[in-house]
Amino acid sequence: MINLIPSYTYNVEQLLAIITKRNNWLIKIRYLVFFALVVFIVFSKYILKVNYTSSQIYALIFIAFSVLIYNVVFNFVSKSNLIKNTADSFNPLHFSLIQIIFDIIALSVLTYFTGGVESPFSIFFVFHMILGSLILPSYVVYTIATLVVLFFFLASFLEYFNLVPHYSLDVIFIYSLYNNPNYIIVFGLTFAIMMFVSVLLTNSLARSLYTREQELKNALDELNRAELVKQKYTMGIVHEIKSPIAVVQSYLDLILQHYLEPIPKSIEEKLLRARARTDEAIQIINDIINISKLKIQSEIKKEDINIFLLLKKIVEKRKSQCEYANIKLHLYSIHNRDIIVKGDPQLLELAFSNLISNSIKYTSPGGTIEVVLDDVVKENFVMIEVCDNGIGIPDSEKDKIFSEFFRGTNVKQKGYEGTGLGLSVVKQIVEHHNGEITFESPSRLADENRRGTSFKVFLPLNNN
Ligand code: ADP
Repeated sequence: MINLIPSYTYNVEQLLAIITKRNNWLIKIRYLVFFALVVFIVFSKYILKVNYTSSQIYALIFIAFSVLIYNVVFNFVSKSNLIKNTADSFNPLHFSLIQIIFDIIALSVLTYFTGGVESPFSIFFVFHMILGSLILPSYVVYTIATLVVLFFFLASFLEYFNLVPHYSLDVIFIYSLYNNPNYIIVFGLTFAIMMFVSVLLTNSLARSLYTREQELKNALDELNRAELVKQKYTMGIVHEIKSPIAVVQSYLDLILQHYLEPIPKSIEEKLLRARARTDEAIQIINDIINISKLKIQSEIKKEDINIFLLLKKIVEKRKSQCEYANIKLHLYSIHNRDIIVKGDPQLLELAFSNLISNSIKYTSPGGTIEVVLDDVVKENFVMIEVCDNGIGIPDSEKDKIFSEFFRGTNVKQKGYEGTGLGLSVVKQIVEHHNGEITFESPSRLADENRRGTSFKVFLPLNNN
């Protein structure tokens, strides 16, 4: 089997995947060509009133149906396992070449029966040259172009010397041109130039585009590799920082629990603040470790999770905190049925815990938080809404809240503690599960004093 893989190809598998898509696209277009041909025959015969001879009309109908039939066969072949994605077997490039050859034969016959050198259809050969140049190596397309041009001259002169009959579209071309040798030569040369120039231009364009695309892909791969190394390095360092902070924390605990010497009230107050700051530092470290882990992980583990039970577990853990803060926390499942998603339970627990703890943190006493589960809002997705009537998100900052380390100006002004990493972790976890996260503020629980925020997470059902 001849090797049709262009010499500049970096990744054969990727190229064959692109060609497969183009082949499928060609097959779809060819059904339209069949309809266009039928419309042309009817239109030219009954509206333009072209005086077709009977052999001409049979030939046109035969061409249209041949196109339809061979396209059905191509369609069948494209879905069968005859085509292999390897360079040395019958691959999508060979399939493309066969399709182009069939199309050129059909177009040559169509051109002949619609006037030969006078036929408007001869222009369509250029399309095939462009298409071929996008798919096949240049030597193959140049060979096809040369054969078409030779055939064109040969057929024109056979008609000129009356060795084959001439068929015309009489009402469109009132004066016959096929018997004018000067016209045949001028038109034939123009046609040849058009064919070769379009192959040359498309080929060099396709080649430089392909090379550019590959260079970009390689650069991106390089960047991803560098990012991976960076994340591993960050994780290592941050982990190292965590241990001394944990030691400081345990010493502070020893002092604060009065296991050593009694300490004066004023110092105890300062140490309590230092203790709180170590908690914050450990929270930041845990968030950074979680983000790095997510970035390193390309695949997540997937197991069946009853999403209502997972949310119930999180809500129950937060109940006492909410009672203490005088915040109502409710969990509803709209259709009251078991909803199973595939995913990593630890990661999903982390994501929903982050959303719920944000709502608790940013809602003042007397407020309400609703966690709602609904599987009919979006087809094949389950929606989990975490809605509050807390401080809300200012309109001017809505496009930044998923950025790492971003914290709202309103929450900073009011002195709420935080790292600005929680939502970024949530977004990455949701995206790792092929889901989506959206939010709105004000929320549906808003009133004149409480703007509120509602986060909606959509996770795919049957995500295998
Ligand atoms: P953090 O809460 O540690 O500041 P996050 O990444 O979790 O960081 O959130 C980023 C910002 O988004 C917060 O600083 C806050 O401005 C805003 N935000 C998140 N959740 C809510 C919420 N439920 N209500 C109001 N603002 C929120």
